[in-house]
Amino acid sequence: MDFAFTEEQEMLRDTVVKLMAKHAPREALRKWNKERRYPEEVYQAFIDAGLLRLPFPEEVGGLGASALDLALVVFELSRVTTDVSMAFGGSVFCGLNVYRKGTEAQRAHWLPKLLSGEIKFCIGISEPDAGSDVGNIHTYAVRDGDHYIVNGQKLWTTGAGLKNSVICAYVKTDRGAHYRKGMTHILIDNDMPGVELRKLDMLGRRTVGTYEVFLKDVRVPADRVIGGEGGGWECLMGGLQYERAVSSAGNCGGAQAVVDLAVSYARERVQFGQPIGSFQAIGHMLADMETELEAGKLLTWRANWLVSRKRDALREITHAKLYTSELYARLANMGVQIMGGYGMNEEYDMERHLRDSRSATIAAGTSQTQRNLIANLMGMKSKT
Ligand SMILES: Cc1cc2nc3c(=O)[nH]c(=O)nc-3n(C[C@H](O)[C@H](O)[C@H](O)COP(=O)(O)OP(=O)(O)OC[C@H]3O[C@@H](n4cnc5c(N)ncnc54)[C@H](O)[C@@H]3O)c2cc1C
Repeated sequence: MDFAFTEEQEMLRDTVVKLMAKHAPREALRKWNKERRYPEEVYQAFIDAGLLRLPFPEEVGGLGASALDLALVVFELSRVTTDVSMAFGGSVFCGLNVYRKGTEAQRAHWLPKLLSGEIKFCIGISEPDAGSDVGNIHTYAVRDGDHYIVNGQKLWTTGAGLKNSVICAYVKTDRGAHYRKGMTHILIDNDMPGVELRKLDMLGRRTVGTYEVFLKDVRVPADRVIGGEGGGWECLMGGLQYERAVSSAGNCGGAQAVVDLAVSYARERVQFGQPIGSFQAIGHMLADMETELEAGKLLTWRANWLVSRKRDALREITHAKLYTSELYARLANMGVQIMGGYGMNEEYDMERHLRDSRSATIAAGTSQTQRNLIANLMGMKSKT
């Protein structure tokens, strides 16, 4: 068993650390958060550094990196900000779906645009009546010649309002069929006639933004269906597992930032004539935080290692997603406790982590649904 990253992986990690130090300093992050503005210039820096190209095969202009390589990148991006890095994740995960399920012509059309930064991708699954129960989506597309007419509403679509964002929407094309058959994946530009966006006031993800998307008689060319009519469920499931594996690294990156902040604060903050870290109560909290973080990282690296080797890893991915999402939220909460009043103040970064970490146990599948899945894999019967 080899737990070390390769020299190339360490170099990649170093590149991302330097990129984020240059383009996303703390003061700027606080400002973007306050203004609820997405820094397009940081996304451009991701493009310029070739980060978007990493996981795509060379035949489509990618660099052929593994899921583990990508996880390492996402760890370091999220160590600075899980919020700003979400646009990167959304584009990569949806782009990989286009690569996996798209035709040659669709790959040739969409991937160069994505990898050059001309467009971004975001994912539109959830709706007001369809969250965990994905099959209950109501957004509907009707074929009309060489177009589909799409009507409905998406909710919580992360990054839908960013510049040149294309919504990778999941819609019903056959209301009578079981959702595994009647669901279709279609790409809708965020500025097509009939698309209306509303940025939601959310606890976290304030820069990338979480949007409500209204679709009224949107005419979408039929060649924007990825994976064929009725092939949406396969697109969704194939992409979700990869997303959960890699985004577990994002949870760990956020949790790492929390531990780093808490440790440096506990060393510097003096009360009763000594650094608060020397009080056993605080020292033990830090010890628990670091230990749990290491456990989360091991689950994450293993899941991504398995994905990189194309092994069946549903169970390991789900362990990593469940554990690391709860880890980030739990550790951010402890971090606030360690920093006292300063932990709640916007001049410090801990409150941002507390807010941003909260979505980890909800987005891309709640903790409850992850537990349902693990219990199912353990032989416990459940309908979901
Ligand atoms: C910040 C943020 C960003 C998001 N970004 C996106 C995005 O980009 N694209 C997108 O499509 N969606 C996105 N989502 C939506 C997200 O995937 C859903 O919120 C999530 O799937 C849960 O759905 P829901 O909110 O409707 O909750 P519900 O499904 O209504 O669940 C409510 C509660 O009931 C529990 N529950 C539901 N069913 C079961 C069950 N069978 N067993 C046990 N407990 C159950 C849930 O765990 C939860 O605690 C985002 C959400 C958030 C918070």
